[in-house]
Amino acid sequence: MSATTEKRRVTCIVCPSGCRINVEIEGGKIIEISGNQCKRGADYATTEVTQPMRVLTTTVRLENGRLLPVKTSHPIPKALLFDAIKELSGVVVKPPVKMGQVVYSNVAGTGVDVVATRSWD
Ligand code: SF4
Repeated sequence: MSATTEKRRVTCIVCPSGCRINVEIEGGKIIEISGNQCKRGADYATTEVTQPMRVLTTTVRLENGRLLPVKTSHPIPKALLFDAIKELSGVVVKPPVKMGQVVYSNVAGTGVDVVATRSWD
């Protein structure tokens, strides 16, 4: 009996061309990638199918009760986004904060920092 072939379609977001990439998976392994115009697209599609990653953008509370917009400094596994949001809901940051400043480290055990996306005096 042969393994079932699963077909996935991924839109590459690495550059503005937005190639539609077809990925064929058999027995849990990628057997073919097509539709990409470059290797970066193949790498993106592989990650998207095996372990999708996302940059998290959210807010954390400031000591003054206002909300500070933040994002992860790098993409984190999509499966950990909820854990990261939950963890950050308990974070309180003391102003002043500079844009790009690390306000939290190792979010959801990913080793990735969370940085402010705006300054606050
Ligand atoms: S496959 Fe290459 S050319 Fe196509 S969107 Fe991705 S990075 Fe751009």
